[in-house]
Amino acid sequence: MLASLRHIVQEVNGARSLAEVLEIIVKELKATLNVGVCSVYLFDAREERYVLMATDGLRQQAVGKVKLATREGLVGLVAAREEPLNVQNADQHPNFVYFDEADEAPYHSFLGVPIIHHRKVLGVLVLQQTSDRRFASEEEAFLVTVGAQLSGAIAHAEATGVLKQLAVAGRGKSREATFQGIASAPGIGIGQAVLSVQSADLSFVPERFCDDSTAEITRLHDALNAAKRDMRNLGKGLEDKLSAEEFALFEVYIRMLDDSSLVGEVVAVIESGQTAQSAWSVVILKHVKTFRKMDDPYLRERAADVADLGKRVLGYLQKNDRLKEVYPRRAVLVGEDLSATVLADIPVDRLVGIISLKGSSNSHLAIVARALGIPTVMGALNLPIVELEGQEVIVDGFKGVVVSRPTRVVRRTYLERQQKEKLLDKDLKKLRDTPCVTPDGWRTSLWVNTGLRQDTLRSLQSGAEAVGLYRTEIPFFMRSGFPTEDEQMAIYREQLLAFSPRPVTMRTLDIGGDKALPYFPIEEENPFLGWRGIRISLDHPEIFLVQIRAMLRACEGIENLRIMLPMISSVGELQSAIGLIDRAYKELTSEEGLSVARPPIGAMIEVPAMVYQVKALARQVDFLSVGTNDLTQYLLAVDRNNPRVANLYTSFHPSVLRALQIIGEHASAAHCEVSVCGELAGDPMGAVILSGLGYRHLSMSAGSLPRVKSMLMQVTHEKAKGLAKRALRMDDAAAVGNFLSNQLGQPELAKLYSSP
Ligand code: PEP
Ligand code: MG
Repeated sequence: MLASLRHIVQEVNGARSLAEVLEIIVKELKATLNVGVCSVYLFDAREERYVLMATDGLRQQAVGKVKLATREGLVGLVAAREEPLNVQNADQHPNFVYFDEADEAPYHSFLGVPIIHHRKVLGVLVLQQTSDRRFASEEEAFLVTVGAQLSGAIAHAEATGVLKQLAVAGRGKSREATFQGIASAPGIGIGQAVLSVQSADLSFVPERFCDDSTAEITRLHDALNAAKRDMRNLGKGLEDKLSAEEFALFEVYIRMLDDSSLVGEVVAVIESGQTAQSAWSVVILKHVKTFRKMDDPYLRERAADVADLGKRVLGYLQKNDRLKEVYPRRAVLVGEDLSATVLADIPVDRLVGIISLKGSSNSHLAIVARALGIPTVMGALNLPIVELEGQEVIVDGFKGVVVSRPTRVVRRTYLERQQKEKLLDKDLKKLRDTPCVTPDGWRTSLWVNTGLRQDTLRSLQSGAEAVGLYRTEIPFFMRSGFPTEDEQMAIYREQLLAFSPRPVTMRTLDIGGDKALPYFPIEEENPFLGWRGIRISLDHPEIFLVQIRAMLRACEGIENLRIMLPMISSVGELQSAIGLIDRAYKELTSEEGLSVARPPIGAMIEVPAMVYQVKALARQVDFLSVGTNDLTQYLLAVDRNNPRVANLYTSFHPSVLRALQIIGEHASAAHCEVSVCGELAGDPMGAVILSGLGYRHLSMSAGSLPRVKSMLMQVTHEKAKGLAKRALRMDDAAAVGNFLSNQLGQPELAKLYSSP
């Protein structure tokens, strides 16, 4: 059963359209389970009916005609109850409905399971058979498994189908489609979609056309040669470790790449006008599919080899293409799993939007995008990105919505919203040099989070009083190897000078988790609970010491440096890190003649264990800063990057607020400065709560600062304290969110955190 399931899932994932997906499901399931009928019904939102979309066993004329409302017939009942229904005498069931066109008369037993995706019933999978027996519980369990495994593929294929149909129906005219993701960086971007094809995933290569086939053919041969070279080298290194049989595989690979019929096929597609990348992908995917269909298990296994080789060659084609990729003036970068590192390769000034299928609003790409002010939607799981290539799209970073091929009316509406947004920003700019003081005189200092060179100017223009978090890993992942001490010193000095005399809090390298350096890969089952932040720095003092030395040298004559340590999870760790900083400081000042004051040293509180040791930490450091992004993910056990659980990720959870209250109170009792540098500080409502909890220093992305300032200046501190007190007593985050929206939702304030 497991093998059949794997086979079906593989087939479905290789399908190019919804119709193909459904066809595979009904055929394969009917054959595997040896039943009379297998059908799929899908929900049609316009008709509010479950429509028979594919069947193997019933009459084909019934497809598209048999339609059932929720609770109507057995199918409607399965959908309404959201659970399997297994009945022996279906025709005697009170819910049974007979359809002439389907010819169901011979079938007595019925098994239906709902297809559920993200809590929504997409449709119903049905098995029927003539014999008068209930389906076995194993069959029921199998069907439930199939339904659960295929729901994502069906949702995706459905969305793709919609887009394709619209494109065809539109015949060049606008036919828009709307997709939902996670709002990740505010703003509205309208531009042309450019697919980032870094993943070397053959099925994500868009159909692209070229003018110069000869150049594309040369590119293909270069990539093939490079892959062959790899194979030879790999083979040589493994000669004495592999059996003769295993070793022969490398020869097979090389022969495949030499195969004139395969290469000829690709060349023919290129000559028909496609680029080398898209021609290669089309041909390889076709061959993979053929291999997968073979009866001989040995040959079926070869499908994986062909796919693997295909990816390798594709990798070379992409590598050579990336640099010459032409970006339109207003580009929306679209990708399957974009990370902050992609921004290193592309002209960021042309980006008006970013869309990623994976990740969520707390992924580092989203954080960097917010700093750069690029509207971003993450976690748009069902977005058929390949079909989006080259189309006009709107990225609504306020609501997490993507609109493709917008109609003129919709486009105009978004342009108007963009305009209003600009006016609001202009208005808020007037507050730039006004200190942030509430009507009853409570002063908050607003700081910025930085990391990219490009965000320095925005940060300075925001009126920030300091840099509360400079993420040093960002310049680290924009390169191909660890920067030297001198290189680091130059980068840090530029930052310190730009903000001088304002203090700049430089956080030591916080890699690991979702922040992998391309030249320092870390493979872990559970990266967020693994080798991260300070743990890596302590295990690699040579890397850490170089960084500290570079920071200290950079601040000579400027004296505005503060050093902050990430991911501290014990007092001992903090002491060891401070010990290393002191060692570097001593070496530089007493042995190398550097003249700098010892900078203030601080620790981040982002691991829940540290919430209960604030006083012990405070004894070691000059300041503390709360990283609510990680604190929230660790307290709630919700991966900050995972769009499937993004609805559970919220810093308004009363337990997160309680942790913030404890940290604030204990830091204040220890007379230790404490700030918040996680994204909660950049949310106008979050900032009010933090202020109500007594936090006086908030650090956020430059784009958020003017709104936060405006909000804080309109709410008295007395009111903020009252709101925080009541929020702490609430049951869940939704209640807190609703309560704050109601309390802070007067028109003047509302526009600061909702879309215009
Ligand atoms: C945090 O965790 O809140 C934080 C500020 O650090 P980062 O987002 O870089 O992990
Ligand atoms: Mg963190």
